Amino acid sequence: MSTLRKLTIDDLDVKGKRVLVRVDFNVPLKEDEQGNLVVADDTRIREALPTIRALMQAGAKVILMSHLGRPKGQPDPKYSLAPVARRLEELLGVRVRFVSNIVGEAVRQAINSMPEGGVILLENTRFHPGETKNDPELARQLAELADVYVNDAFGSAHRAHASTEGVAHYVKQAAMGYLMKREVEYLSRLLENPEHPFVAILGGAKVSDKIGVIKNLLPRVDRLLIGGAMSYTFLKALGHNVGASRVEEDRLEEARQLYEEAQGKILLPVDHVVAPEFSNEAPAQVVEGDIPDGLMGLDIGPKTIERYREEILQARTVVWNGPMGVFEMPNFAKGTFAIAEALAEATDRGALTVVGGGDSVAAITQAGYADRVSHVSTGGGAMLEFLEGKELPGLVALTDKK
Ligand code: AMP
Repeated sequence: MSTLRKLTIDDLDVKGKRVLVRVDFNVPLKEDEQGNLVVADDTRIREALPTIRALMQAGAKVILMSHLGRPKGQPDPKYSLAPVARRLEELLGVRVRFVSNIVGEAVRQAINSMPEGGVILLENTRFHPGETKNDPELARQLAELADVYVNDAFGSAHRAHASTEGVAHYVKQAAMGYLMKREVEYLSRLLENPEHPFVAILGGAKVSDKIGVIKNLLPRVDRLLIGGAMSYTFLKALGHNVGASRVEEDRLEEARQLYEEAQGKILLPVDHVVAPEFSNEAPAQVVEGDIPDGLMGLDIGPKTIERYREEILQARTVVWNGPMGVFEMPNFAKGTFAIAEALAEATDRGALTVVGGGDSVAAITQAGYADRVSHVSTGGGAMLEFLEGKELPGLVALTDKK
């Protein structure tokens, strides 16, 4: 993929230079006992540390920017990055200066007085109405703050915003950070010459979200294992009774066609954990084959788990996106956790294993296997678009290697 021919921060000479870095600090916040907003989960901040530390050590003036949440193009204290600056300071062990603007005189002054190796964090880029509109004027103003631009926000790379895409056109050099580079390397390995057998596992609520991925992966994989609510759309399309399970009625024909085109590569659940209601308290039971009226499928059953496990353990390459059931409810989490475990075992056997999407990442983390797979992607939407074969605007805009 052409994206691997983009500059990376290792190609840059940053000593004494102002380096504007787009990171993904879109972290959850919570109130502490005193009612102050603090970072509830700092995973995304930690993921950006290798890039930040490398730039500091190389003597760059590091200017960080990110979005957080969905403020409506104007300042909103609920979404300020100030709590992120405090957490980043703790993690780095050095002072992080927070500037409560994105562009303008205050930002310029703060940057002018920065020492080499210093770190500044700008306020939420989405406080500016030009960010999500990819306003060229905002992009130009951002670019003026810097000598070099680095994009390390893989999770936002599928969006053409001023801080993720526009700005790259107004700087001399725009490069990938280490997190971005790692994501692109692992995801590219899935699409280009993956080792076979290559098994993809897709789950989650909707077929409609995953059609592009299914189409792009089918010619590449040996098996596509389907779970979660999306499997009921397929099963119904093939003439099975799925009871009260969640189905996308307007996708039945498409699902049937995909299944036919796949010529046996797609595996669907053969048994299900069902209940009369969407509730952890509802009496759950296992049924094989068709689901009786009045019951809904909420997880894959034990035979399906065994079948999927066998496929995963034989694989040399595995990619997983989307839970196998309503894993947020303990009674319907077994299938999802079993897939997480199978991925960890496949990794031990030498397979390349990649997990992405918010729910699958949460599940594999809860199951305790997150550090036993080859790569946990930080991108949900970005990972899906990459696997669909789409070009990610935040990547395409970066400078090509000579
Ligand atoms: P997605 O955002 O498309 O990855 O879907 C994830 C959501 O799908 C999770 O919140 C799951 O609880 C939900 N889900 C998975 N399996 C089922 C199912 N069988 N019935 C209803 N919801 C499901």
